[in-house]
Amino acid sequence: MPTEKKSPLDRFMSRVTRGPGCWTHSGSLGSHGYPQATGPAGWSGPAHRVGWLLQVGSIPPGMMVLHNCNNKLCVRLDHLRIGTHKENMDDMARVGHVNRKLTDDQASLVRASSESVSELARRFGVDPVVIVNIRSGKTYRYAKVRPAKPNERAA
Ligand SMILES: [Zn+2]
Repeated sequence: MPTEKKSPLDRFMSRVTRGPGCWTHSGSLGSHGYPQATGPAGWSGPAHRVGWLLQVGSIPPGMMVLHNCNNKLCVRLDHLRIGTHKENMDDMARVGHVNRKLTDDQASLVRASSESVSELARRFGVDPVVIVNIRSGKTYRYAKVRPAKPNERAA
């Protein structure tokens, strides 16, 4: 039996690595990629939610604890905020935006072009799958197709 009685928050924090930026929780990852932590009453849940409850006390009904840093492992309180499901979706869309490899203009060129996938991939310096996804409408769905200007056409 351990002599010193640890509070749920102490137990929680003992699994947290404090970095200069994010503080990451080392719990095993749950189905959505969030580390799982144990809360005060012995229930377990996503670490950032548990951390919020342990330190702040409550989450308003219907609201979510969101990451400002988009790091699912992070439990640092000032990287978290309360928000709606819609805000969460908006966050994810923004992250997707950052990861996009081509501009909308380039994407419309890809759509309008009759060059092969491998030619285009080489020309834009991206993986062929990026080209395939644009052509099939999986990505950049809203990039308007416009005719290429003469100086943009491949020589
Ligand atoms: Zn963070």
